[in-house]
Amino acid sequence: MTNLTPSELKRLTDKLTTRRSELEAMVRTDAEHDNLRRMGGEVGDPGDESAALQQTDLNLAEMEGSVRELQAIDQALERVRESRYGHCAECGCDIPAARLDAYPTAERCTPCQARHERVYGGRDVTPSL
Ligand SMILES: [Zn+2]
Repeated sequence: MTNLTPSELKRLTDKLTTRRSELEAMVRTDAEHDNLRRMGGEVGDPGDESAALQQTDLNLAEMEGSVRELQAIDQALERVRESRYGHCAECGCDIPAARLDAYPTAERCTPCQARHERVYGGRDVTPSL
């Protein structure tokens, strides 16, 4: 069980699913634009091409961010299904509802998240070693 009331849990899952469909739509649109730009790039002059390339890089980074957020949302929704949502993945304490409200995908309490970021130098990055 979590410290969340059923209505809080419902509100947070609604938030997660809404955000999920937003992101899904965004990633789809990005991919379509990307294809269009690539087709257009073939006829442009070299200057245009490098500008288009930079633009593509930028979009790729954005898209990666969206895809990562999608994965985080899927994981959060899975935690909801398994009744683990709202529990800190590190210490097992209840994550305060206010924190979940601000970050519905949070999987750690604030102290554990801070420690995690100190160790790995970022949020949920895979260590490079
Ligand atoms: Zn914790």
